[in-house]
Amino acid sequence: MAKMIGIDLGTTNSCVAFMENGRATVIPSAEGERTTPSIVAFTKNGERLVGQAAKRQAVTNADRTFSSVKREMGSDKVYRVEGRSYRPQELSAMILRKLKADAERYIGETVSDAVITVPAYFTDAQRQATRDAGVIAGLNVLRIINEPTSAALAYGFDKMENRKIMVYDLGGGTFDVSILEIGHDMIEVLATAGNNHLGGDDFDLCVVGFLLDVFKKEHGMDLSKDPMAMQRLNEAAERAKIELSSAQTAVVNLPFLAQTSKGPLHLETTLSRKRFDELTSHLVDATRGPVQQAMEDAGVSAGDIDRVLLVGGSTRIPAVQAAVRSMMGKEPSRDINPDECVAMGACLQGGVLTGAVNSLLLIDVTPLSLGIETMGDVFAQIIPRNTPLPCHHSQVFTTAANFQTSVEINVLQGERGTASGNKSLGKFRLDGIRRALRGIPQIEVTFTIDTNGIVQVSARDLGTGRSQEITITGSGNMSQAEIEQAMHDAEMYAEADRRKRAEEARYSRKGADAAENRSDDDGAMDA
Ligand code: AMP
Repeated sequence: MAKMIGIDLGTTNSCVAFMENGRATVIPSAEGERTTPSIVAFTKNGERLVGQAAKRQAVTNADRTFSSVKREMGSDKVYRVEGRSYRPQELSAMILRKLKADAERYIGETVSDAVITVPAYFTDAQRQATRDAGVIAGLNVLRIINEPTSAALAYGFDKMENRKIMVYDLGGGTFDVSILEIGHDMIEVLATAGNNHLGGDDFDLCVVGFLLDVFKKEHGMDLSKDPMAMQRLNEAAERAKIELSSAQTAVVNLPFLAQTSKGPLHLETTLSRKRFDELTSHLVDATRGPVQQAMEDAGVSAGDIDRVLLVGGSTRIPAVQAAVRSMMGKEPSRDINPDECVAMGACLQGGVLTGAVNSLLLIDVTPLSLGIETMGDVFAQIIPRNTPLPCHHSQVFTTAANFQTSVEINVLQGERGTASGNKSLGKFRLDGIRRALRGIPQIEVTFTIDTNGIVQVSARDLGTGRSQEITITGSGNMSQAEIEQAMHDAEMYAEADRRKRAEEARYSRKGADAAENRSDDDGAMDA
């Protein structure tokens, strides 16, 4: 039987897990790491690199290397490389394809099904784009689930009835906080809040700023415009930050960082945890607002929260842990590796869906309110945000003008009172309404959101029974034909890669084994 995997498709790193002997187990990448950088690159000789291999050559091939693609999911953004353009979901699909290939190599069996996680407040278009990325990668996406829900599952919190927990997730590029309620056989997300432009990368930038200042004071030279030096400073900053999570000081030593007519210049300095905390305190403080917002939306106070769960690599920063402790008045749980628990939970959810794990029902919420436009630019809310999924709400509307025989339904998502202040997800028209004075026809508009957060809207004239409906796929998303084309392309590349490796193996002294190893090192695409 083909295997199922759980995937945490992260902004900076991704992680994949599978069920082994009834337990969620993280699958190491072909490079031997437990997470894979979410980076894709195209080399000048036409090769595609994914993960560690793409990260390693990022500086020398900057304009053909793409990271943080997750931020663009569901948008119209197009990445161009040598006359070809790629949508965010196509680049994400390349990451998913590598995770799938690594999983197949590790398990020794074909992988077909997957559960993929998304930030709790991803919009419908972003969720749909994530699902499309899975399909392009050749995966049967069983479900898209929210990352905090997934983390709670990994912790086995589904076993604690009538408890409320907070998931505080600070990753490389995003911050999410969620309040979950655990009931009998179910986890309900009561509220979510966050900032999708706050994460470990911002902490790195603060350290880079510090290092640039040290260098400038010492040598009177500004390195901020030197890409090669900046890449080295970035890497050193992240290393120092990670060191400071367990040590009080970190030494940064970067020889030959710049070249002058008088010879090479070096950087050597020490950063203390105290100074690091000062440099980054505004970032830690920026997580307080969303924490308060989530508690307010859920109608709870810190004292009502039974457990606080830390997720994301950046929660290893001691000052972050201290801030959570002081905000919540309790010691946060961090028994499971914070980089891995989301993928593990996704895998457990997959286990539930395929019957490998005993029944457990998950309820997520709508991240933003949904409704339609009515006369005078008014947003008529039909489903308020944080409504548990799946849900089904109807409301009756009428015509704005006498003898109006058709209405346009503009489906909106957002929190503003005006229609124009919110995002339009799509429009459709209901024709054939019986001629009548305005205010007489009754048009029932129904919103249905499934467990994946995919929205369907229908309008029915109660007088004639005529109805019309749309499934929202988001304006920035791909059509079915485009997805099929992208799947076809992805398979073609996988086949080309396979042929290339086979070719290389024939010419390799060590034969097929050597070729297999080399392809692992490159992180090149594989099927
Ligand atoms: P994630 O998106 O959960 O993989 O988190 C990645 C972020 O966590 C990156 O910014 C890493 O630099 C950061 N990170 C990983 N380990 C540590 C650590 N020990 N201390 C501080 N930050 C870390």
